[in-house]
Amino acid sequence: LKKKARGWTKQAAPVKKSAVLGAGIMGGGVAYQSASTGTPILMKDIRDEALGLGINTATGLLNKQIEKGRLDEAGKEKVLSAIEPTLEYTGFDTVDIVVEAVVENPNVKAAVLADVEKAVPANAVLTSNTSTISIDQLAKSVSRPDQFCGMHFFNPVHLMPLVEVIRGSQTSDETIARTVAYAAAMGKTPIVVNDCPGFLVNRILFPYFNAFNRLLVDGVDFERIDRVMEGFGWPMGPAYLADVVGIDTLVHADHVMQEGFPGRMGHDADVVAEALLDAQHLGQKNGKGFYEYG
Ligand code: NAD
Repeated sequence: LKKKARGWTKQAAPVKKSAVLGAGIMGGGVAYQSASTGTPILMKDIRDEALGLGINTATGLLNKQIEKGRLDEAGKEKVLSAIEPTLEYTGFDTVDIVVEAVVENPNVKAAVLADVEKAVPANAVLTSNTSTISIDQLAKSVSRPDQFCGMHFFNPVHLMPLVEVIRGSQTSDETIARTVAYAAAMGKTPIVVNDCPGFLVNRILFPYFNAFNRLLVDGVDFERIDRVMEGFGWPMGPAYLADVVGIDTLVHADHVMQEGFPGRMGHDADVVAEALLDAQHLGQKNGKGFYEYG
């Protein structure tokens, strides 16, 4: 994978400054990863509270580096000063690439992409961190679809090496090259994949979540399923993973997968995560999902 990425990065204009839209689980992670690997980043949200959480995430990760003796206070301040939280599009006229990481809702993403396109330079690349929504569908909301592609990070961003770079039918080679180069500069392992709902990884992951759901409906306890999958050697079971992802994100992504592949991703039983969402059990982000967090 690394060799393939090098092939792309040779052609790319470097990314000197970037921006991320959304300061949630993923946006905060992208901001930390970009700043800590040397690319300053603007982090925009519509809620002040979310910006604070995004900065807290980065601060917590930097403090861990200090505890391990890998960083000093000056290094920490340098990284934090490379993340600029904002509620406006101020400064977006200087960025080379944008990572959209707002909620997994096609209408919200379409509106945000149309807005941000007006705020960035004409040659800037726009990307979306959507988990499942087709890049060609989202490309309809921008006027320069050749400069748009998917940039799908995994959670937690600072630990997960893979980034899916998703090529829409109109995405240019230059756009792919620049996105691959930015992912590589962030220390990630980019793979270029074709567009479809769920791309590559989530077409594998969602059938797994669906099988988990079927077991729950059959009456198997979720904690038992998690223990079994951990015993099988996976780092965490599906219930804990759902809480890490966010139950709202999981349910929205599941809807996109069902619409995209009704035969293969459809459910033949109630969806337990939908009931959790109705009860506002959003997972780790609000302290209760399948599990409760203190
Ligand atoms: P999240 O709920 O933690 O954060 C979403 C953030 O977007 C919130 O802070 C919200 O205030 C903000 N937001 C909403 N509308 C906005 C707007 N118009 N402008 C700017 N900010 C806005 O969600 P998340 O888990 O970070 O997911 C974000 C995206 O990343 C989704 O598309 C999701 O599918 C994708 N993703 C999530 C995961 C995961 O495991 N959670 C993994 C890979 C990709």
